[in-house]
Amino acid sequence: MFALRDSRDGDVSRLRVDVAFTDSSLDLQGLRDDFPEGLARLEEVVGVPLARLSQVHGADVLVVDAPMALGEVPFADGLVTTTRGLGLMVRAADCVPLLLADPEAGVIGAVHAGRPGMALGIASRAVAVMREQGATTISAWLGPRVCGSCYEVPEQMRADVSAVVPEAWAETSWGTPALDIGAGVRAQLERAGVDVVDVARCTLEDANLHSYRRDGKAAGRHGGLVWLS
Ligand SMILES: [Zn+2]
Repeated sequence: MFALRDSRDGDVSRLRVDVAFTDSSLDLQGLRDDFPEGLARLEEVVGVPLARLSQVHGADVLVVDAPMALGEVPFADGLVTTTRGLGLMVRAADCVPLLLADPEAGVIGAVHAGRPGMALGIASRAVAVMREQGATTISAWLGPRVCGSCYEVPEQMRADVSAVVPEAWAETSWGTPALDIGAGVRAQLERAGVDVVDVARCTLEDANLHSYRRDGKAAGRHGGLVWLS
């Protein structure tokens, strides 16, 4: 069920942070529109209720302390919490699912960063919101996404985006203009003083991951999950 699962202990506060990225054995596509069965199954596996979002490729980051009621999922692309026993979930199928944690301070975050979100600086925004909540030493996990060798874009789009985030400039393996959203988000995090663990798997190349570029409208969504226990 998981493409990666990791955990980290907070020495002083005796907290543990768990992070996980699901694989294509689970399709979380329906959760935006309330998909109680899929959500319940996932919450049973991870053992905590999950706060989630209707993702809109923006830069808004919400601080939450409880899961959303069915039918009341907010529009945003980032979540931050300090609540024990609450999980945060973002979903993606080529965009970057990004998980953040300061296990010492007990602050966690989850971000959906695609091309527009990266250009708007949502990763740095989430780091700033976490610091407002008391985080100091933040670690990040960059989840599976379409890689810079696969994510072909028009020449002008590459020029516009890499003018804002130079590290995102890329070329496909067949020599055409591309963007590397993972590299861009990683550079933004490193500039913000965040230590990055990169799962470094390409959704388009790996059949065990969901990819919108590969499967179009039929594509499912994988999840990035982080929780405090
Ligand atoms: Zn690739």
